[in-house]
Amino acid sequence: MTNAATAPIACDTLITAAVVVSQNEARDVLHDAALAVTDGRIAAMGPRAELTARYAPAAILALPEAMVLPGLVNTHTHAAMTLFRGLCDDAPLSVWLHDHIWPAEARLTPEAVRLGTLLACAEMLASGTTCFLDAYLFIDAVADAAEAAGLRAVLGQGVFDIENAGFKTADAALASAAALADRLAGQTLLRPAIFPHAVYTCRQDTLERCAAFARERGTLLSTHAAETVRENENCLAANGARVIPYLHRLGMLGPHTLLAHGVALDAADIALLAETGTAVSHCPKSNMKLASGIAPVHALRQAGVTVGLGTDGAASNNALNLFSEMGTAALLQKVATGDPTALEAGAALDMATRDSARALGWPELGRLEVGGPADLCALDLTRPQLQPCFDPVSDAVYAANGGEVVLTMVAGRVLYRDGAFSTIDYAALRRQFRETASRLIGR
Ligand SMILES: [Zn+2]
Repeated sequence: MTNAATAPIACDTLITAAVVVSQNEARDVLHDAALAVTDGRIAAMGPRAELTARYAPAAILALPEAMVLPGLVNTHTHAAMTLFRGLCDDAPLSVWLHDHIWPAEARLTPEAVRLGTLLACAEMLASGTTCFLDAYLFIDAVADAAEAAGLRAVLGQGVFDIENAGFKTADAALASAAALADRLAGQTLLRPAIFPHAVYTCRQDTLERCAAFARERGTLLSTHAAETVRENENCLAANGARVIPYLHRLGMLGPHTLLAHGVALDAADIALLAETGTAVSHCPKSNMKLASGIAPVHALRQAGVTVGLGTDGAASNNALNLFSEMGTAALLQKVATGDPTALEAGAALDMATRDSARALGWPELGRLEVGGPADLCALDLTRPQLQPCFDPVSDAVYAANGGEVVLTMVAGRVLYRDGAFSTIDYAALRRQFRETASRLIGR
């Protein structure tokens, strides 16, 4: 006779781990824990002994010496710029952009963008990132790569009033964005977005049309904003307002808007972002490398602004690694404020997970809880830099370098495990990628 109440429940995968940092509302950290995964979602999370007895999984992922975290969420990148990594370092933003990046980008093709994005997906998976916002040309090719790799992505069609390899006019870019939105209808892992490049590369009517597109299509609107002091000075001269009030005047701020950088912000700008519910993507390493300045992250968070974390592209970082970005973000706020309590480890981890997810308008990501998506990564706790592991959150932010990632899962599917990719033929990709990168920069 079987007892229905105690009969084991079927699930796809049972993951057991030494530690689970849930990033749920209570920020529960579970020791000797397990997660049951079914249909890409978390069916249960709790003590290992209890879940092992309760579930009859089709597969077991035993990670007795690992720390499981939610998959990290990158709120600002240009994935295919992996092709230009190391092409031009140690130069000001204007020189970097005008003399090096834009000329190289003029030679881009959809196939180059697909390969560059696929390489970026491999890099992100190997360092625990499961979702990214991309802004670039040939966004269809970006979508192809993200789909092939199996990551989640918010795909922002780049819009400029400058002719480029992708399109001659902003009209063409908006048409491409509309076509992508149609293509992605009903997709669960990929979402469309619109990404006018910046106030200094888009005319006022182009920015307004992008805002209208986002409203009509219900997509995220994202743009580079207030990256440097000079951007504010130029905007004031051209439009009679600093960047943030100018965007507000055009109807571009609001809860579905994500501004990348937000470095040169004054108190009135911060108040306007808070009042309108606009989110910011903080990209500390890119800002440091281009000497753009330090975003007032502590003040933004205190004002109630959602601040996510981003890497920016690999040509200005030069890595797509949110573990190093988290640690950098925390340290930079302490230097900026002279206050060692500013942006503590837990806040930095929040930024890379749940706050990044909210910034993208995808709040069920960046946390592990029953009913939510099974997007996660696992760190190998046997590594020297993670001993003795008194505080898993501190270790994840200040001690880990991302190279400890031994497992990355998106929607219940293992995409990376122990150095191997399940969706990417990495040896072939690396060969094609290097050939393409060399051809693009004429070497
Ligand atoms: Zn950027």
